[in-house]
Amino acid sequence: MSNWLEVIERVEPLEGIDLDAGLVSGMQKQFAGMAGDHIGRVNFYTPTFKAYASSEISGCGKSAWPAISITGGDCKLQCDHCKAKILEPMIAARTPEDLWRTVNEQINGGAQGMLLTGGSNHRNEVEYGDYYSTIRRIKDTFPNFKIAMHTALVDMDIARRMEDCGIDAAMMDVIGSQDTITQVYHLRRTVDDFEKTLEYLVSTTLKVVPHIVIGLHYGNLLGEWNALEMIRRHTPQAVVLVVVMPFYAPENRPFVTPQSSEVGRFFMDARKALPDVPLLLGCARPPGRAKMEIDSYAVMAGLNGIAHPSDGMVELAVRLERNVRVTPACCSIAIGDEVMAIETSESGLQVDIERVIAHERAKRPGFGGALAGIKVVTSGMPEAVGGCCS
Ligand code: SF4
Repeated sequence: MSNWLEVIERVEPLEGIDLDAGLVSGMQKQFAGMAGDHIGRVNFYTPTFKAYASSEISGCGKSAWPAISITGGDCKLQCDHCKAKILEPMIAARTPEDLWRTVNEQINGGAQGMLLTGGSNHRNEVEYGDYYSTIRRIKDTFPNFKIAMHTALVDMDIARRMEDCGIDAAMMDVIGSQDTITQVYHLRRTVDDFEKTLEYLVSTTLKVVPHIVIGLHYGNLLGEWNALEMIRRHTPQAVVLVVVMPFYAPENRPFVTPQSSEVGRFFMDARKALPDVPLLLGCARPPGRAKMEIDSYAVMAGLNGIAHPSDGMVELAVRLERNVRVTPACCSIAIGDEVMAIETSESGLQVDIERVIAHERAKRPGFGGALAGIKVVTSGMPEAVGGCCS
């Protein structure tokens, strides 16, 4: 395998991005020595691949994976990086009856599953208490309708109730720094409460997908490595990494944009720490050039799933001889579709990768789109997948 810096130079859409040469060689070295169940495979999630996918995904539609909030846009915590803005575009279902009705409407409209969430109380708990029997009813009536639930902090009793009501995936943010919990989340809970939540959820039969928000401490990395250690102690089904997008930060508590190379170093450390766990890069990350750099590091570090990849990523992965798959959906990582498919290791669709790459390259003005020298790897296994929100 040639030097990765030279490989990058051949990927036309990456022209002009600023990668740390030392980090790139470090990644090349680390990757060469890695072995593990999830090393070498990468699945790209993006609705723009729709045109290249098989007819299997013709049902992919706008409302395939709605996000539903049981508190509408209300959240008592008002964390500095979010201020409840993440909830605003979601469908509100403020009572169990609303939830039942909404889910029925969504299923009639073609939904295959949902992300169920809500704003937190002052203890970073989402109060699902009244909803469990309705969720059970939904799963009993529509067993194929997938439910990924944002759990927030739980005790063992609540973890069991979540398990009993039949949800398909449990998601939570793992925070490894007490300062971040206190200052960014305004929360009187401990790092240990987050670890206990993970421990309780993992002790059930639920598929558990913790998230780490990189740069959560006002754009700086602080508790991320401890979060990795916590996750290592309670192996979940997959881990989603996202990069903070502090658009809603208050003026008196501004966030900086994390350095791409710092994010890349963390990807490398995460990959090394969790070689046997699928590592996914979720949609949230800073836009523009930073996104291209972050995505390039994600591919090189060996992450297994990348939502909304920047142009050039499929080509980069192919040139690095990864086992490349694509899923023509944008919400799958967020709602755990990848995780639901993991047990078969066959998520993603067969697409004409050569055409995807040609499409990415053709978007560059003045480029002819020749693909000479690229070893094209196509994945087999067409499989119906979750939809998209494009
Ligand atoms: S608890 Fe969640 S929804 Fe509420 S402000 Fe914090 S991150 Fe946003």
